[in-house]
Amino acid sequence: MYVAKNSFTRYAKGFVMAERYQNYVNGAWSDASSGSVSTSTNPADLSDVIGEFQASTAGDVAAAITAAHDVKESWRRTSSLARGGYLLKAAAYLEANPEEFAQALTRECGKAILEARGEIGRAVALLQYYGVEGSNPVGSVVPSVNPEILLYTNRMPLGVVSLITPWNFPFAIPIWKMAPALVYGNTIVLKPASATPHVATLIAKMWEAVDLPAGVFNLVTGSGSAVGNELITNDKVAAISFTGSTRIGMNIAAESAKRGKRYQLEMGGKNPVIVLPDADLEQAAEITVSGAMKFSGQKCTATSRAIVVGNVMEEFTNLVVEKTNALKIGAGADPESIIVPVIDQASKDNIASMIKRGVDDGGQILAGGGVPSGADYDKGTFVEPTVINNVAADAYVACEEIFGPVLSILPAGDAENALDIANSVEYGLSAGIFTKDLNSVLDFADRIEAGVVKINGETAGLEPQVPFGGMKASSSGDREQGKAAIEFFTQTKTIYVDRSAT
Ligand code: NAP
Repeated sequence: MYVAKNSFTRYAKGFVMAERYQNYVNGAWSDASSGSVSTSTNPADLSDVIGEFQASTAGDVAAAITAAHDVKESWRRTSSLARGGYLLKAAAYLEANPEEFAQALTRECGKAILEARGEIGRAVALLQYYGVEGSNPVGSVVPSVNPEILLYTNRMPLGVVSLITPWNFPFAIPIWKMAPALVYGNTIVLKPASATPHVATLIAKMWEAVDLPAGVFNLVTGSGSAVGNELITNDKVAAISFTGSTRIGMNIAAESAKRGKRYQLEMGGKNPVIVLPDADLEQAAEITVSGAMKFSGQKCTATSRAIVVGNVMEEFTNLVVEKTNALKIGAGADPESIIVPVIDQASKDNIASMIKRGVDDGGQILAGGGVPSGADYDKGTFVEPTVINNVAADAYVACEEIFGPVLSILPAGDAENALDIANSVEYGLSAGIFTKDLNSVLDFADRIEAGVVKINGETAGLEPQVPFGGMKASSSGDREQGKAAIEFFTQTKTIYVDRSAT
């Protein structure tokens, strides 16, 4: 039974009722051993407290890992069709009431309601895709030099996998990790971002509703600094799948490698678009602004740099500024809002300091640059959509991830120079080009250092049935999603059966 205990807690508005949520371990809802909780709030209105969530300890994580470990053999022995069946039931569960989940997403991570609905639709598609994957072949029969030998390969699950996820796609990212993890026979422990524990609790509720066997999925909330180490170093954990910042990801890589554990990291981006002089500028500006500003730029694949070649700079820049200034700033619950609050005050402060640094380095603000004020904005963490030009390609603001609605426009002498600038940062997640010239398209697709390449399209926006991941400091390990997910979540066994001796 899903538990949300009520408790009275003092918040900004005085004494208000806050729901208290629990961890989900071994098929039951339980409190953390610390006896402490932390709160989650609505970024559009910080006085709106969503609930209290368990501040778990390393011991709580160890118990969840043990629960997952205890059932790993029985889950492996469950047919993959039956495992896929749970995913299909979960998809149907979400589809029965998608609006409840979309509203919860918007309230906790601030996302515009239209994008939240899209994220729930994406989660459904992922569950359906991997649900069907349960009936697909996983190995192959290979001819042997000895006709008496049946030689075949099989894919085996890894065992217990720790999933550590960020707040910006708090529904879709856990699902795109756990759906393949489960269908290929692994058991899991999920540690969601501290900013979005409520959405994670709804995911746990989903697995409870479809009667997933106890221990196969476990949820532990708590801060990464308190519980992260146990999720990575516990001997019973076979692998770690992480999405988040490059700083935390690189540390996970080092700790996992020391212990011979498999890891998969999806991390930051500084995604460029190149605008060539022959591009449809109206379309290029529209798509660039959409990629940079939707969800206030808080997507790993958000457009962060527009590199403009030749004499179209002025026309393109004017279009971008005009379209940016037309974006409605407001709470995600308002279907017209494009610029929604950023996740928290720390993020708002960081964005302000990045903009200031851009200006200190010679940048010129063409749109935004500040924070909106007024009754609609003062309660939340809003920042204005901002366009900066005149920054050098190697300036801090043009090289570091901002994770806010900030676009830098950079000039390039020619297409070759534009490609050099695009490839000059440490990240390599997503990139786009606007042109009608086929040779330029093909050259860009070959030479851009990015895992996702968009031609006349937005750097953000992915389909779940194809591999996703980046290059350089943006990713490490096997790709996620599509057929590629089997590479991370299974290991290959090669089996020789000598029939002459049986
Ligand atoms: P983050 O600060 O790195 O946190 C990600 C997760 O790691 C959270 O669950 C966090 O927990 C946890 N964590 C923190 N310290 C840890 C530690 N010492 N050991 C283990 N886990 C720890 O990232 P974020 O701010 O949530 O998300 C934004 C970042 O994610 C951006 O850089 C963005 O580009 C990246 N991202 C990448 C992709 C992709 O697919 N490439 C997709 C989405 C987002 P707490 O919340 O409790 O600190």
